[in-house]
Amino acid sequence: MSEKPYDYLVVGAGLFGAVFARQAADAGKRVLVIDRRNHIAGNAYTYLEDKIHVHQYGAHIFHTNNGEVWTYLNRFARFNRFTNTVVANYKGEIYSLPFNMYTFNKMWGVVTPDEAKAVIDEQKKEIQGEPKNLEEQAISLVGRDIYEKLIKGYTEKQWGRECKDLPSFIIRRLPVRLTYDNNYFNALYQGIPIGGYTKMVENMLEGIPVELNQDYLKNREHWNSMADRIVYTGPIDEYFDFAEGPLEYRSVRFETEKLNTPNFQGNAAVNYTDAETPWTRIIEYKWFEDLGSDVTIISREYSSEWKPGDEPYYPVNDEKNSALYQTYKELGDSEPNVIFGGRLGEYRYYDMDGVVARALEVAREELGQ
Ligand SMILES: Cc1cc2nc3c(=O)[nH]c(=O)nc-3n(C[C@H](O)[C@H](O)[C@H](O)COP(=O)(O)OP(=O)(O)OC[C@H]3O[C@@H](n4cnc5c(N)ncnc54)[C@H](O)[C@@H]3O)c2cc1C
Repeated sequence: MSEKPYDYLVVGAGLFGAVFARQAADAGKRVLVIDRRNHIAGNAYTYLEDKIHVHQYGAHIFHTNNGEVWTYLNRFARFNRFTNTVVANYKGEIYSLPFNMYTFNKMWGVVTPDEAKAVIDEQKKEIQGEPKNLEEQAISLVGRDIYEKLIKGYTEKQWGRECKDLPSFIIRRLPVRLTYDNNYFNALYQGIPIGGYTKMVENMLEGIPVELNQDYLKNREHWNSMADRIVYTGPIDEYFDFAEGPLEYRSVRFETEKLNTPNFQGNAAVNYTDAETPWTRIIEYKWFEDLGSDVTIISREYSSEWKPGDEPYYPVNDEKNSALYQTYKELGDSEPNVIFGGRLGEYRYYDMDGVVARALEVAREELGQ
């Protein structure tokens, strides 16, 4: 038995940390979880305001094809039957996303899949030979009308550059559904945990001590003295004091507002696909789980440049950052008692199901389960 009070210190109470902590505790290990934020659940955190579960770090919709992950999470939450169906607003014209027969009917008045396919095939002919940029690539996949109304403005806002100046490989494929199916995700299981993600993570951490507002990096010696092994789910570059330079992220800015109406847009997600509207989309949270609030809370989302110190959202998997991450990973591999995990520890975009699957895998390796 070690002298230290805990077997594991888990740094970060997000999904990776919570899954690992649960598995270790269930294996009889002594576990302490800390987080530098004032709440658990990491970026999946939700809080209740006016009978609405607000997703503070952006809308989170759970979807997976992984049966093990689905069964695992259902131990801690019941999921509702929310199905993501996205509406596109192009200068007041409303279209269904992803591109499907509802979209094509609205765009061209076509009714059958054959009619829709004929229009798309005709419009695709505009591009002959290898597409030279994102604009040509998109037109070669779905034709000009869909490109102009549903892709161009949105993509330019996201990247802050014109589609003509963006490389074609950004869009490899654009799913075109010749069915009247507007379910956004092709996933076997989908839903929102009833009562919010925070409640789900709280259930995962039941019986495990959690200390909030505690930054591991500000007091490493103290925390290292608490446990034999550390599971670190914060940014890997920050762990090494940015010794090799900072890893870059893409960011999103949210403007959240409460409105004195019970129904602002009639759908959880509305994408603004024109170039003039400055936001990319509006999320109306109450439609994830309708608790009958007589007001509503929305967030406008804006693409924004990331700079060190901003909230890190999406890793940039270009050559430069991937190489830099490899350098940090090698440094990490030489820390014998630390496991780096999760989206920041592994500098990798994971959906929630991916991060849960990864944490279960790491726990199995570590705990010999
Ligand atoms: C805008 C956005 C929208 C998303 N939407 C979806 C979606 O719809 N569906 C989906 O499946 N996934 C979605 N995701 C992905 C999802 O957020 C991640 O899969 C998940 O949050 C990863 O969990 P994690 O534990 O790895 O990281 P995090 O949730 O980031 O948790 C890491 C925790 O570590 C803490 N921490 C960091 N450093 C320290 C330190 N030094 N000391 C103490 N604590 C520390 C942080 O405070 C944080 O709480 C989205 C992601 C973003 C950015």
